[in-house]
Amino acid sequence: MKTLLATLLMVVSTGHACLAATRLVEPELKLEKQEKAAVPRVALTFDACSGKTDERILSTLIDNDIPATIFVTARWLKRNDATVTVLKAHPDLFEIENHGAKHVPAVDRPMLIYGIPAAGSPRAVEAEVAGGAAAIVEQGLAPHWFRGATAKYSLSSIGQIRQMGFRVAGYSVNGDGGSLLGASAAEKRIAAAKDGDVIIAHINQPTHAAGTGVVKGILDLKAKGYAFVRLDEATEDGSDDTTN
Ligand SMILES: [Zn+2]
Repeated sequence: MKTLLATLLMVVSTGHACLAATRLVEPELKLEKQEKAAVPRVALTFDACSGKTDERILSTLIDNDIPATIFVTARWLKRNDATVTVLKAHPDLFEIENHGAKHVPAVDRPMLIYGIPAAGSPRAVEAEVAGGAAAIVEQGLAPHWFRGATAKYSLSSIGQIRQMGFRVAGYSVNGDGGSLLGASAAEKRIAAAKDGDVIIAHINQPTHAAGTGVVKGILDLKAKGYAFVRLDEATEDGSDDTTN
């Protein structure tokens, strides 16, 4: 009986060790807390994974003078020349940051995340991060933040990305559910943001209904008197050692 118990305990603890080794985190990022009387502020962050440009969102930001941080992949940069020109023409509004070379999850062990194969090794994580950064540098810009595809990481890959000189951009409000939400659901999520929230949404899916809701949610926040900041204009606090 004792031996059986010991064996069972060993199986359980080995199982835990495996889980710990492959545990993924989806870090939270928030802006530093403000004084109570301060105007509430949020950071809009948009991922441009691959595909095209959602002009509904881009023109809303420009027409309303709303700053945002755009995470672009090398792949998206190559296919969206006209948008890149527009983004660079508004350096007061847009901060361009790194969403990777090929939109591969920055996880250093082989696994599937939402069905997408992860980079799978430290070397492949490095290629994803460095390749994305190089494409932004080619545009004459300097990235300071990285956000990987799926926004999930292993703790060791976060450490690796930090060592490469980048902070890792989590978020606190998922504004569009990977651009798959309906318009009213996306609007509700964004309009419900509180002071200090970092909102994530997508700016590369012009045909999805979510984009209509993203625009409405942003305008709702503006109407409530919210201020918008880019990540380079604020101090942030990220979980899982992503920023400190
Ligand atoms: Zn993405």
